[in-house]
Amino acid sequence: MTNRAMIIGGGIAGPVTAMALRRAGIDSDVYEAYGRGADGVGAFLTLAVNGLEALRPLGLYDLVCDLGMDTPRMEMSNGSGRLLASVRQPGRTLKRADLYRVLRDEAVRRGVRVHYGKRLTDAEATADGVRAVFADGSAAEGDLLVGADGLRSRTRTIIDPGAPRARHVGLLNTGGLARGVTVPGTPGTNHFIFGRRCFFGYLIAPGGEVWWFANPPSPREPTPEELAAITPERWRARLEELFRDDTGPMLDIIGATEHILPGWNTYDFPTVPKWSDGRMVIIGDAAHATSPSSGQGASMAIEDAVVLATCLRDVPGTRDAFAVFERLRRERVERVVAQGRRNGSGKAPGAVRAFLRDLTLPMIMRQVDKRNSLAWMHDHRISWDDRVTTAAG
Ligand SMILES: Cc1cc2nc3c(=O)[nH]c(=O)nc-3n(C[C@H](O)[C@H](O)[C@H](O)COP(=O)(O)OP(=O)(O)OC[C@H]3O[C@@H](n4cnc5c(N)ncnc54)[C@H](O)[C@@H]3O)c2cc1C
Repeated sequence: MTNRAMIIGGGIAGPVTAMALRRAGIDSDVYEAYGRGADGVGAFLTLAVNGLEALRPLGLYDLVCDLGMDTPRMEMSNGSGRLLASVRQPGRTLKRADLYRVLRDEAVRRGVRVHYGKRLTDAEATADGVRAVFADGSAAEGDLLVGADGLRSRTRTIIDPGAPRARHVGLLNTGGLARGVTVPGTPGTNHFIFGRRCFFGYLIAPGGEVWWFANPPSPREPTPEELAAITPERWRARLEELFRDDTGPMLDIIGATEHILPGWNTYDFPTVPKWSDGRMVIIGDAAHATSPSSGQGASMAIEDAVVLATCLRDVPGTRDAFAVFERLRRERVERVVAQGRRNGSGKAPGAVRAFLRDLTLPMIMRQVDKRNSLAWMHDHRISWDDRVTTAAG
């Protein structure tokens, strides 16, 4: 019987797993590498309806719905200002730092111990559990270890030293919050613009703030040092240059933004072959990071957390519980990663592909809307009450 889990990472999957395990009768500690409040200020994300619904069995739905805003629609235009598509895509958009904060605070309120400044460096099996070692020289022991330590997961390489490297998807990410600017659009609609040289997304928040991001193309993966060397002034100048010939509010929004976020690379993992070893398992981005273009990374992390807890609750033996978890999750998450890859490929096409995209996208999106062809993604629901069995299928 598992009594105590060690969860590495206090992002999204970590605290949600801790709360799900608690509901399943398993105590846990969360070990987070950074200090409290170190999450990127300014960045935002959209939780799709499937991710929001997965919060319900844990009593977290209302808590998260108190943050941010409903974003029920998505509109896509091109760099000439032509509207390509307007479709229903329910979700809730919130500041990343707010989501991390409420999940951790709620986990603590429910009795989970969250330890900050604990960067996992190593872990090994003991006679009846796992011993984790941290960069500050301390160590901890538990019955099992859940690696919810994100894209650059250390747990992943402990489980499989030959694990693949994340794949750079050829896009950078930056963005910010603009104030005091009036832009076209309805509050709560996600506006996406396929600029001639760069993709741009924005959202009018209820108070009038404009939340935005941009994906400058970058076929080569810049090193962290190269990215860090780009000053905010150079980011601003680069973005102004990229959007100079486009129709749309991009230049006004960038001009009304005091702090442009330092850019970062975008990655995904088409597949991570090994998710578990003995009493260690990876979940969330550590196991299947998807490019932000899927709009599903956070939702997949939440779904994983709930499914993992039901597996540990119902399947005797940690190793078997992890095997069932993988069986229930792998196909779905890899399909989401592939979808994210497809969505991202239209963001930095050449002239011919851009022409074809503008020709076909309106029809494709009409079909998506009419046939609800992304139902496999959005209508997926996780049951807390159904018992998980070891039977295949
Ligand atoms: C720009 C951008 C936009 C995005 N937009 C969306 C969106 O609109 N919708 C969506 O659903 N998803 C979006 N995502 C993806 C989403 O943020 C991730 O999929 C989600 O955060 C994954 O959760 P996680 O808990 O697995 O990993 P994370 O949230 O990355 O959390 C991992 C945690 O582990 C900690 N950690 C790392 N290494 C260690 C270690 N060795 N020891 C201890 N702790 C460690 C980290 O500090 C971090 O707190 C976006 C991502 C990016 C980068």
